[in-house]
Formats: sequence, structure tokens, C-alpha cells
Amino acid sequence: MSDALTASATALPGIGKVRAAAYARLGIHTVEQLLYHFPRAYENRGNIVTLAAAPEGERCALLLTVATEPRISLIRRGMSLLKFRAYDDSGTAEITYFNQDYLKNTFHLGATYRFYGKVERFSGGRVKQFTLSSPAAEPWDEDKPLPALYPVYPLTEGLSQKQMAQGMSAALSLTAENRGDTLPDDIRRDMELATLSYALRNIHAPEDLPSLAIAKRRLIFDEFFRFSLGTAIMARQARTACAVACTQNDLSDFRAALPYSLTGAQNRVIEQICRDMASTTPMRRIIVGDVGCGKTVCAAAAMLIAAQSGRQAMLMAPTEILARQHAADLSELFAPMGLRVALLIGATPAAQKKMIYEALSSPDPTRRIDMVVGTHALLTEGVTLAAPALVITDEQHRFGAGQRAALAEKNRDMHMLVMSATPIPRTMALMLYGDLDLSRIDEMPPGRQRVDTFVIGESYRARLQAFIRKQIGEGGQVYVVCPAIEERECEPDEVTLDELFSPESASRPPLKAAVTYTEELRDALPELRDTIAYLHGGMKSREKDDIMHRFAAGQIKILVSTTVIEVGVNVPNANLMIVENADRFGLSQLHQLRGRVGRGKRKSYCVLVSDAQGETARARLETMRTTYDGYRIAEEDLALRGPGDFFRVGSGVAIRQSGGIRFRLADLCDDSDLMTSAATAARTLLESDPELRDHPRLRRTVEELFCVDSGTLS
Ligand code: ADP
Ligand code: MG
Repeated sequence: MSDALTASATALPGIGKVRAAAYARLGIHTVEQLLYHFPRAYENRGNIVTLAAAPEGERCALLLTVATEPRISLIRRGMSLLKFRAYDDSGTAEITYFNQDYLKNTFHLGATYRFYGKVERFSGGRVKQFTLSSPAAEPWDEDKPLPALYPVYPLTEGLSQKQMAQGMSAALSLTAENRGDTLPDDIRRDMELATLSYALRNIHAPEDLPSLAIAKRRLIFDEFFRFSLGTAIMARQARTACAVACTQNDLSDFRAALPYSLTGAQNRVIEQICRDMASTTPMRRIIVGDVGCGKTVCAAAAMLIAAQSGRQAMLMAPTEILARQHAADLSELFAPMGLRVALLIGATPAAQKKMIYEALSSPDPTRRIDMVVGTHALLTEGVTLAAPALVITDEQHRFGAGQRAALAEKNRDMHMLVMSATPIPRTMALMLYGDLDLSRIDEMPPGRQRVDTFVIGESYRARLQAFIRKQIGEGGQVYVVCPAIEERECEPDEVTLDELFSPESASRPPLKAAVTYTEELRDALPELRDTIAYLHGGMKSREKDDIMHRFAAGQIKILVSTTVIEVGVNVPNANLMIVENADRFGLSQLHQLRGRVGRGKRKSYCVLVSDAQGETARARLETMRTTYDGYRIAEEDLALRGPGDFFRVGSGVAIRQSGGIRFRLADLCDDSDLMTSAATAARTLLESDPELRDHPRLRRTVEELFCVDSGTLS
């Protein structure tokens, strides 16, 4: 059985090399992965309407009887038209198919078919004319009812719905004898959940709506259950590992060196860190707090605590820009104390890398680098610390659960601190970070002002330019963020169920790309021409660094960029954030972007430019205008877009590449009851079988979810 699932998808009839390549683009390599490629929506072909009653512009199902022999005509070279008439009690329709001559023999005069498509009307003379072009059609037999719900799959080039459905039905029949279920029987019965084979069959080919609901419930439970198992296993491992106790935690010099005094919340968190790190049980802590609340300084304190015990610390950031900034800030703070801070990113020259490796692993404490800051280059490169004690990840939400697992695995005996500015609703935090102790920074440094936010359309362009001039004239600086075409991810497999029903994706205004936009802006503001620069992910690291540096130094007044500046960037003099095509961004992402301004003394503004007319888009932008609390924005984001999007906010690629969290069906808001019971069930199971030895298949699915090699979770 298990063999049938892990077999390559090419084992299925009809899936050859070419088709397999298309599947691979969707991340589907095995039969099992195919089965877990869930429909993003279902067509309801069960509501049969008459031609006369067919809704305008919407697909619908009709029962029509063929009235004329199908005929093929050549329209022009390479283009043929198959045409016939079919009727019901309310009228007659002309049915056409382009370039599908082979369908000619599937339609028989006098036979009835269930058609599914859009009905168009023409009023020619006295009779109403209906047409249906290229509708789906199935022979209709009163005695053998057709299924009502048809799956609609996320697709990729080279795969049609039909082919996907065929592949799926082959996969389902191959696994029909599935007796093995990943879920232990007693849990399944206690929770009144369907079997896995029932669930898989009905998620793809639902008998009816109630069966679909039952299937979904089982699969959602599975998602939560596996995730809970994974985090619980990680937590247990941490408890059994042994870290170095860093007991030297006198921070008075540190406090004195800071240009401000810490907030109550920061002090509280630092105290928690001191306590954690003084123990041999490895710290596993997450600091969650809104943008700008001052998490970095808590991380710095932790790094200093490690250093005071003669140990080393590592800080990992999701972008090079942020890594550079952290390295610079930490050097400034710690160099006067005689500590050595190094930066290690992909762009670091090889020779320098080698020196850093050596200095990190040096047995001689006087030659040793005390703190290293970098991107995930820290994970992949041959970094070994001579005296490791602490590893920190900044902006955790940018990394996936997989990277966290990898990091935890690589550094099992180290204290671990993660920071996240994405305000995560409580239930979700429990799920995602169940293995971590939570510290919340719920207080902003004093003197922070609210960033006044405006939503404007294209017609305000001239006024916006005048406003830019004014701000710069008064000494301020401006960020302009554009969605970048070249960086935009296109992941057809990630469309959520809800999205299908959102009509907005269709006609969107053209996107402003950073480079062209910069030119436009230079033309519009000629006197500022030389102080406008752009920044995007495709640029060389050195260039990016140079531009960021000149922006921070105030030489560049307007920085046009893609979302590369989204996380962490800190230039307190910047006071105007303009987001072009703002409707293209997630709310939490907009909140992050807005958090780049309002960091200094200047009155700050955020201008969201959007001409999107859709109701949801307007509602979302309105939320940004009226809400300043990151948590509320996150909740709204979830309510308006669903968790699939939430996790994709600005970081889809990063999360996916790192094999992060992908709840395919579960909605972390609606399904929180199921989530709680899944977490309880996971805990109970692990009590009797901590390593899932008796449940190898379940174990494998957990490992896969966390994208770790077999064995990592043992
Ligand atoms: P985030 O939590 O988003 O990572 P940062 O750590 O980057 O926030 O801090 C944002 C800004 O606030 C920085 O410029 C930092 O120097 C400043 N800051 C942090 N803590 C305080 C404080 N207690 N008082 C005043 N300013 C602070
Ligand atoms: Mg930060």
C-alpha cells in the first residue's frame, strides 16, 4: 500500500514524461503528492437550469437534447468549428466547439446531455437565441445520476482540468484498497473522523456536499495533527538536550551604552532571556511584537549574555539588507566593549568568508569572533562555532517551519531565540510556535507617533508629487514601494478556495515596476532627479548596500524599491511611505511597510495608491487607513483573505522554498476547535509513543511537513 503512494506519478496510466514534467512544476512527484493536490474549488453542476432561466455571464448546468446532426466547418486554415443545436423546454441553443472535431461522434441526435458553461443570448427577431461555446458535456441517463460537484484544480501549463482529473482518478483507484491510515484508529474514532481513503476520495470526487464536508474535516484535522506532532517533537528534543548555562548577565554597561532607556516590556523580555540562558535547558523563545517595538535590542542583550560567558552567538536575518544593518548596529554597540562582530552573507568574498570561518572556529578565545550575523548562508555554509551558545532568527515568519527545524537540529544544544514582527493571532501562534515560549512586547518606545495614512487614486498623482516635494523640502525622506513584476511569484498551486470566489483577480491595473517608476518620478521632479534611486532584489549586493547606505546618510531622498525593504530596515529620518498598487499587498505587509516610517521625530505619513474598485480591495485599504494595531490588522487580513494568503504575504517564495507551513485546507480562524483537539490528540499520542515508532507512516508525513530529512525528528 505504502509503495503505491510513494511510487512515482509516472506509475499511473496516462502519465508519461511530458505530463510528469508538468506535474513536477506543481511540486507533484509521487502518487501521494498527487492525492494531496486538493481542488481549489468545485463547480456545482447539480443545479440544472433551463436556457431561459440561465443566469447572465455565469456558468450553469443545463439538460439539453441534441436537435441537429453535429457539423464541422472550416473557418480558416487551422481553425474548425463544430456546431449543432440542442433544446430544452424553454428554448433552443446553438452549441459550438473550436478545433475539437473529435467531439463530433460523442453527440448523438436525440440524446440528452448535461452541459455546463456560460449561456449567451442574442435577440434576433422575435425568437430569443441562445449560444453555448465549448461547454463541458456528459451523456445524461436518468437512472445513473452524474456527480454534482466537479473539482477545479490549481493547474500549470501543459495540464488541463480534465487531465488532472484523469490522473487523480487513476491515483484514487490505485489506492482504493488503502487499509492503512496515517491516523491511529482510536483517535479517528474518538474524533468521529472519516477514514483517509474516504476523505481523499471525497475531496477529489465528492458524492455530495455533506461528504465533502466530512472529507474536509478529516483532512484539516490531519494538517493540524501533523503540525502539532512536529512542534511537540521539537519541543521535547529541546527539553532533553543540554545547553551551556550563561550565568554572567550583568547588563548595566549595556544599558548605559544605549541612547535610550528600555521600555518596561523590553526589560521584562530581557529578564526572561536572562533566566532562560542561565539554565542548561536550551532556551526556546519567541519574541513577538509589532513593527518598531524594539525587539532587536532584546536580541542584542541575549548576544551579550552569551559573550559574557565567553560563548558565541549567531543572528540570522531573512534578507541581506537586514543582516548588514544588524551587523552594523551590533558592531557600533559592542565594538567599544571589545567584542568582535562579523557579517556573513552570500555576497561575502570567498577569502573573507574563509577568514570568518577560521575566526569562528578558532580555539583561541582572543582570536575568536564573538558574534556572527548573516542570512541563511549561516545554515548552508560550513559554519562551525568553537564555543556556540545562542542562535537567533529575526523575522521568523519569513522562514519556514522547515528552516526552524533544520536550525533546531543543527543547534540542538544551543539556546534559541526567534523574533517575529508579524502579529500572529493567538490561536495561530499556539499552532505555529507550540514548541516555543512566548514573549510579547506590547509596548512601544515613548514618543512614537501615529503614521497618518491616506488612500488615494491615480487622479491625485499631481498632488502626491507636490506632497513629496514638500516633505523633502522640510528635510524628510521618502520610500516608494512598487510591486515588482520580475519578482512577483506566480504559483498557480496556491490559489485558495476562497480566492476562486473573489472576482477581483481578473482585471487589475498595470503594475508599477521600480525601474520605470523611478524614471517617471525623475521626470516629474526634475530638481530632485539626482537624489532619486531605486533598489530591487535583482541588484548586486554591493549596489544595494551602497544605496541603502546613501539613503540612511540622507544623500538619497527618495528610495524607490520593491518590498526588499519590507522587513527590519530602519532609517528614522524617512517620514513618507508611498505604496503603489497598494491593493496588491497583504495587509500585514502594508503594515510592515508603514512601520518603516514614524521611527523618528518627524511627523510621518503613509500614502496607499490604488485604483482598485473591488469591494474587498476597498475594504482592505480602508482597514489600513483606520487601523494602526498590527494585531487587529492581522486578524482582518485573515478574515478578508484566508490563511493561505496570510502566510504568503510578501514572502511566498521564501516560505515555500524553505518548505514552510502550508495548511492547504485548514482555516486557522474557523477551525480553531479542530485545531485544539488535534493538538490534544497529538500530545496524548506522543506520551505513549514519543518517537512515533509504532506509526511509521504518520512519522513520515510529519517529517515531510517539516521538510526535514528522515531522522531529524528522532
Ligand atoms: P523591531 O521590533 O521592529 O525589530 P527595532 O528593534 O528595529 O524594532 O527598533 C525600532 C527602533 O526603535 C530603532 O531605531 C531602535 O533604536 C528604537 N528603539 C528601540 N527600543 C527603544 C526604546 N526603549 N526607546 C526608544 N527607542 C527605541
Ligand atoms: Mg526587527
